Amino acid sequence: QHAKESSQESEYHVLQMFTKAGNNRGLIDKFKLCFNSMMQKSSIRPDNGEILHLHLVSDPDSKAIAEGIVGTWLHKGLLKLSFHDPVQLTETLHPIVKPMQEKFSAGAKAYYGDSIFFLSVGMHKVFPSDTKHIVQLDCDLKFRSDIRELFDMFDHFESENVIGIAEEQQPVYRHTFWQYRNEHKGTKVGNPPPDGQPGFNSGVLLLDLDKMRASSLYNSLLNGTVVRTMSEEFHFKGHLGDQDYFTLLSYRYPQLFHVLPCTWNRQLCTWWQDKGYQEVFDFYHDCAGEVNIYHGNCNTPIPDR
Ligand code: UDP
Ligand code: MN
Repeated sequence: QHAKESSQESEYHVLQMFTKAGNNRGLIDKFKLCFNSMMQKSSIRPDNGEILHLHLVSDPDSKAIAEGIVGTWLHKGLLKLSFHDPVQLTETLHPIVKPMQEKFSAGAKAYYGDSIFFLSVGMHKVFPSDTKHIVQLDCDLKFRSDIRELFDMFDHFESENVIGIAEEQQPVYRHTFWQYRNEHKGTKVGNPPPDGQPGFNSGVLLLDLDKMRASSLYNSLLNGTVVRTMSEEFHFKGHLGDQDYFTLLSYRYPQLFHVLPCTWNRQLCTWWQDKGYQEVFDFYHDCAGEVNIYHGNCNTPIPDR
């Protein structure tokens, strides 16, 4: 019901950024592990009348590398594959995400090319309206469960939810919102789960494109004045792209987000542990239960099992 009805097959759309892979052995290995584990665990197969449609945002060199990696599955008809040109996407995105870029990009200057890091924010305006849902994934993931379960979660969105996203598992936003927290004693902003609002991690994103298109609230917030006002209110300046924007939005409009279980984006990075947050780190980093998706963020190795 959440997949597109084509002539025979229902399509389940998955999108990944896979760019600048040309001289990047590390990224290539990550993509291989992510793709192979996703396909091996997936029950979305043509014999059920269903197919995974993988959308890759890739420059020409990266495209050639990806084709080599997914080739076997593609030629057996177990996958649909589309490529999207980052240069063309940037042209469409830039006018939509320019205000976010100015507040949530690395460095003082917002570069035109950085628009691509905000693709998820404007995805509903980039994809044609017959694409109802997209799952956007980082490349540094390893699946231990069936990706179908992620698509099933769209059915559990509350009426105002437009995006499904897991919480950030390090005290990143405790750090970034230091000034706001200092001025608002007792705030939940930047506090750890289960009662706090630690902010989000965008490694696994459920984009309900239909609801993103239909939400007058969400679309009214894609606006320079709103972004600047909220950034000032929270004394916020970020560099993590879309996840900064979603985090900031959630502090004012939590109803836009469906929070995914931590096991579906189990982040392994511990960079913040020894940066002055030892005594609170575990409150952010702990995640009980069987891991469904590992996320080897900040280049952290992923366990073999
Ligand atoms: N990415 C890419 N090419 C690059 C760097 C990043 O395509 O040169 C994409 C890739 O999908 C990656 C995502 O951007 O998973 C986010 O980067 P990364 O996972 O390294 O960030 P982290 O999760 O460690 O913050
Ligand atoms: Mn990642």
